[in-house]
Amino acid sequence: MEKIKDPSIYRNPVILQSEDLTKYILETAVYPREPEPLKELRELNKDHPWGFIATSPDAAQLMALLLKVLNPRKTIEVGVFTGYSLLLTALNIPHDGKITAIDINRKAYDIGLPAIKKAGVEHKIDFIESAALPILDKLLEDPANEGSFDFAFVDADKENYVNYHERLIKLIKIGGLLVYDNTLWGGRVCWPEEKVPEHFRSGRNAAIEFNKTITNDSRVEFALTSVGDGLNICRRVA
Ligand code: SAH
Ligand code: CA
Repeated sequence: MEKIKDPSIYRNPVILQSEDLTKYILETAVYPREPEPLKELRELNKDHPWGFIATSPDAAQLMALLLKVLNPRKTIEVGVFTGYSLLLTALNIPHDGKITAIDINRKAYDIGLPAIKKAGVEHKIDFIESAALPILDKLLEDPANEGSFDFAFVDADKENYVNYHERLIKLIKIGGLLVYDNTLWGGRVCWPEEKVPEHFRSGRNAAIEFNKTITNDSRVEFALTSVGDGLNICRRVA
């Protein structure tokens, strides 16, 4: 991530609905009910050059609802950044719920951490600074972890989504949820490849491949939704 000199080339807004409709949803439904700690984190993101990669608040609102219905005790997040989705998860799971949160880089997490502490939910979080795949593999070395998680949110390197899914489907219990972000990749999944700017191509191709994999995976029921940047919401059924 650090290697890219000009994040603004990535900044073309991820809006799958019309701008007016997105504004309507955010202003009438999302921001008025957004908890104060999340507002605080969103403000912090505004000052960060990469702040625009945080989970879209409308997608987060849907996720909060799913979390409340599921009431998960053991969750996992891949891709934390400053922690908007992490704090949202922490706020919506039970008091004794836990989140294993993995990010290859802790720097952004440290920016969000004061807001997480202030919200009184830090005790739910076990942050691991590492590439995610080796951690998931390590978790799977202990058979006790198989089928032990209730919920997963995946929002890191898109090229590894299929690999994350292969591990997470074993870690999540039957009936548990796996939620994958950015699966419509700014709508570019339906663009002809040659129209997609070079720096969006590998993400676009990865999203297409991933969505196909999920459609063909009989171990899950799912809904590919166009909220935020596209949440692919899966439930393990086998
Ligand atoms: N969910 C976050 C946004 C995540 S952005 C939010 O709501 O704000 C993607 C994150 O994935 C970045 O913080 C990046 O450091 C992390 N990442 C990239 N590659 C990774 C990898 N291989 N393993 C773990 N994390 C990775
Ligand atoms: Ca995302």
